[in-house]
Amino acid sequence: MNTTATRGLQNLLQSAARALTEAGIPDGRREAETLIAFILNCARLDLYRADSFSLDPDQQETFKGLIRRRARREPLQYLLGTQEFWGLEFRVTTDTLIPRPETELLIEAVLEWFGRPALAVTLLDLCTGTGCLAVTLATLYPMARILATDLSPAALDVARSNALRHGMTGRIEFLEGDLLDPLSSLGLNHALDGIIANPPYVPDTELDQLQPEVSLHEPRLALDGGPDGLDFYRRILADAPKLLRPGGRLFLEVGIRQAIPVRAMAERIGWRVDQIKKDLAGVDRVVLLTKP
Ligand code: GLN
Repeated sequence: MNTTATRGLQNLLQSAARALTEAGIPDGRREAETLIAFILNCARLDLYRADSFSLDPDQQETFKGLIRRRARREPLQYLLGTQEFWGLEFRVTTDTLIPRPETELLIEAVLEWFGRPALAVTLLDLCTGTGCLAVTLATLYPMARILATDLSPAALDVARSNALRHGMTGRIEFLEGDLLDPLSSLGLNHALDGIIANPPYVPDTELDQLQPEVSLHEPRLALDGGPDGLDFYRRILADAPKLLRPGGRLFLEVGIRQAIPVRAMAERIGWRVDQIKKDLAGVDRVVLLTKP
């Protein structure tokens, strides 16, 4: 490695890592490296491999700007503009929730239920956000009809761009509106095979206790589940039976300590609750229900 350039880069990295650590970010060094690699358009590990790396003055300014934003606890994903989900790269903006690894459980559950390759099933993704679920399902189920709704036009723009990025534009019908409302005129009553949803589920009193990346920067609209966090489940459980065919499946992601109340609510109005799946942290994360 060219030693002057290396030393310059090391100094830059060290002060950036320190700034991030002081801002309360646990893995500051690694994140600083990720941002340098992003600017240099290389992989983080390339920083250790190549002979010589340096940032020109413009790149240094860009880097410092990104570090300042990260130190204000903007999520790394908003700075990079992307997040991986199910092995695919998704565009994210401040109009969308950042896809979480535990949400991949919903995809696993769909695969377990419908198998692969599936027939021409009709699937609906509620509160699609980045479109990560709808787009992933479109790639996994080439014969399926897929619909996706979101209340936020800005989020739908991001979802459409993610469909385009993965060549799935013609495969997904994106609909703007509140939960199941946009489907009312499509003549799909009792026609859906599956509804999948990761709705907002954080109790509003807990919003401000989330880590600053979430509470200060992710869209409230995608997080706020009302006083007990369960508002959207109440509405989905009440309205989904009209759209699902008998035997149709509902796949719900839920927040911590919500699986049991959601199951109770569902059973009270006639749903069959088949399974509750835990995420890698051992939290009951996904509730699987069937319309009798
Ligand atoms: N899983 C998100 C969190 O980290 C919440 C997502 C949601 O409300 N759907 O808090």
